[in-house]
Amino acid sequence: MTRVSLEGDELEGFEITKPAASVRLLLPIRGELEIPQWRGNEFLLRDDTRPIIRTFTPRRFDKENNELHIDVVLHSNGVASTWAATTQPGDRAAVSGPGRGYDIDPRATVFLIVGDETAIPAICQLLELLPDVPISVHLLVAHPDALVDLGRDVGVTWHVATDATDADEWLSGAVQSTDLANGVRVWAAGEAAAMQHIRKYLFRDIGFPRSNAHVRGYWKRTT
Ligand SMILES: Cc1cc2nc3c(=O)[nH]c(=O)nc-3n(C[C@H](O)[C@H](O)[C@H](O)COP(=O)(O)OP(=O)(O)OC[C@H]3O[C@@H](n4cnc5c(N)ncnc54)[C@H](O)[C@@H]3O)c2cc1C
Repeated sequence: MTRVSLEGDELEGFEITKPAASVRLLLPIRGELEIPQWRGNEFLLRDDTRPIIRTFTPRRFDKENNELHIDVVLHSNGVASTWAATTQPGDRAAVSGPGRGYDIDPRATVFLIVGDETAIPAICQLLELLPDVPISVHLLVAHPDALVDLGRDVGVTWHVATDATDADEWLSGAVQSTDLANGVRVWAAGEAAAMQHIRKYLFRDIGFPRSNAHVRGYWKRTT
């Protein structure tokens, strides 16, 4: 994971009002940043190709300097991942948002938080704001180097995945092995198929109330 700082007067007024929100990041193509135009039903570039836009968690915003920090997981072959690893001071990118943060339910008596490395920025924000109730965090990473301090003294179970199947099973297993009694709120984010298995378990298999769980696919494994 690497931290990228975006700054500029255009960020004046940007505000993070809820944890685990999102921003959309428009990336340059071959060094050029072109703002796409709305063409009937989608945003396209001048040559009718699609812009490169990816979603990230606005980890922190420094109002004094109009500086937005995002933490990007470095994986093997993504455009955003490569951009984050190689971008230089002065390079340009564009941001829109923030959108859709998490509403913390004041009636919750326990929080179960499950995610992979892409969810760490959002989980750190949640941990800054969740009330003083029992919280258990289950985090999956691809490499032991990704184990970080989450900034709050809560029970954290880490797992270093050996492969995609192990990753998927471990994430759903973390939910299935937890007592989901009344008052528990579940927050989960990570690879789309793993999140689908968690949704199936919660909503179809055990009839967990949908309003008590937030489960969101953050990325899709295609290889
Ligand atoms: C609300 C929200 C918040 C998010 N917050 C963050 C955040 O704070 N930090 C963060 O790093 N990501 C975050 N993500 C996930 C991020 O948007 C995706 O990982 C994105 O696909 C990365 O783009 P890319 O160009 O690097 O890879 P892509 O071009 O999208 O994918 C290229 C290849 O890489 C694989 N891939 C994509 N992401 C990963 C990954 N993380 N690990 C391993 N393989 C991967 C794909 O399966 C594909 O094969 C968030 C997503 C959402 C929806």
